[in-house]
Amino acid sequence: MIHRLLIANRGEIALRIVRAARELGMYSIVAHSEADSDSLAVQQADESICIGPAQATKSYLNVEAVLNAARQSRADAVHPGYGFLSENADFARAVKAAGMVFVGPDAAIIERMGDKSRARQTALEAGVPVVPGSPSAIRDLEEALAVAEAIGYPLLVKAAAGGGGRGIRIAEDAEALVKQLPMAQTEARTAFGDDRVYLERFISRARHIEVQILGDGERAVHFFERECSLQRRRQKVFEECPSPALDEATRDALHRSAVALAEHVGYFGAGTLEYLYDDLTGEFFFIEMNTRIQVEHPITEAVTGVDLVREMLRLARGEGLRFAQRDIQCRGWALELRINAEDTERDFFPSPGQVQRLVWPTGPGVRIDSALYEGYRMPPFYDSLVAKLIVWDECRDSALRRACRALDEFKLEGFATTAALHRRLLEDSEVRRGEVDTSFLERWLEGQTIPTPSEKEMVS
Ligand code: ADP
Ligand code: ADP
Ligand code: MG
Repeated sequence: MIHRLLIANRGEIALRIVRAARELGMYSIVAHSEADSDSLAVQQADESICIGPAQATKSYLNVEAVLNAARQSRADAVHPGYGFLSENADFARAVKAAGMVFVGPDAAIIERMGDKSRARQTALEAGVPVVPGSPSAIRDLEEALAVAEAIGYPLLVKAAAGGGGRGIRIAEDAEALVKQLPMAQTEARTAFGDDRVYLERFISRARHIEVQILGDGERAVHFFERECSLQRRRQKVFEECPSPALDEATRDALHRSAVALAEHVGYFGAGTLEYLYDDLTGEFFFIEMNTRIQVEHPITEAVTGVDLVREMLRLARGEGLRFAQRDIQCRGWALELRINAEDTERDFFPSPGQVQRLVWPTGPGVRIDSALYEGYRMPPFYDSLVAKLIVWDECRDSALRRACRALDEFKLEGFATTAALHRRLLEDSEVRRGEVDTSFLERWLEGQTIPTPSEKEMVS
């Protein structure tokens, strides 16, 4: 059993986990930095404990500080959320060694699937296609050039430990690769403490499609796919579930490959297998696995009616997997819009500030996952996500219209956000038809001027 759950995260995901814990009768303890003592997660939790200064390396990324907090608060389990220590195998191992449950897979599975280069090898073993690339991490320039010759240019140099859209560089030709390789290695060492990089063919008109799974260590089930092709700087901005791009046969093959890969490694907990899908050929290629809950999980919850965070906690406390594949149905359509504190007029520069006025959209089919409240001052030390607007409706068209309606209800004064960009995007004819790929948004942004909220209000 889990009675006391330590939540080693912040923002909306910490609050999300507090909610799931409470519904299961668990006592929640939020471990927070000095900059987050007034956060909504701290206010809503049963208890909170400060783990250090604002700087993440001294608090949310500090394994010893989090472990001490867990011991001190007599927690019997730790939920890592996403980002921070969620895919850190050493942390998962240390939690277990301290006699507590880590809400996630075993350290060995995190090592095998969280390392992007090793995960590619594992996918191949399980018969899952991967993007053509280097069989393992690159040893030296000579090997890089030989592999590059075989896979062709342009290609990507990717950090094995990368994540969050960081640690990826493009090389157009051999000359560029010679320059990029040492830079990518240095950057990877500084950003992720691991300088290993690998190469992958650059697929220019791909869609990002991923499969949500839950596993019990032997058996895995999927919860359909999410499409996350609208991205800026390789970071997801807008997601939908299901994907508008797949025919039934491809969709089925994709789901089966994800379940096969998860079962091949004996996956435990919630995880996501990410793929690139080529519209023209109908092929899909595995790119990486996230061995944690993802930011965009609520759209899957909307179409399946399953609370994924609650299921993670149930698995962690030993209840086993409560689903057969046929129990999981996909109904209707869901969208998620990530609203960030970023100024679209200033190249998306972070714009954290104090919330002066806040009106959330509500009504049928609308969900907000956010830790904002009126008067809250967003600390400038962390990422800029302020709210996830999730809408559900019977079909894609009505979900798009519902998202417009919800955005029109939303009012936030105090700092700039990307809400107006989303409103524009929802009106784009290609977005409406679902004709997008991972570079669509950046091309689209080059041809746009996004109105500031005040301009928008003057127009309407
Ligand atoms: P998702 O895959 O859930 O959509 P993202 O890729 O947007 O998630 O990442 C979720 C959060 O975790 C972001 O704040 C991102 O910056 C952070 N993150 C993910 N992986 C890493 C990593 N390896 N190193 C640092 N930050 C990461
Ligand atoms: P992260 O670990 O940072 O999430 P991913 O490997 O999942 O990195 O890639 C992030 C995004 O970068 C993808 O969603 C896609 O848009 C782009 N990308 C990754 N690999 C490729 C590739 N081989 N070709 C084209 N785009 C890619
Ligand atoms: Mg990814």
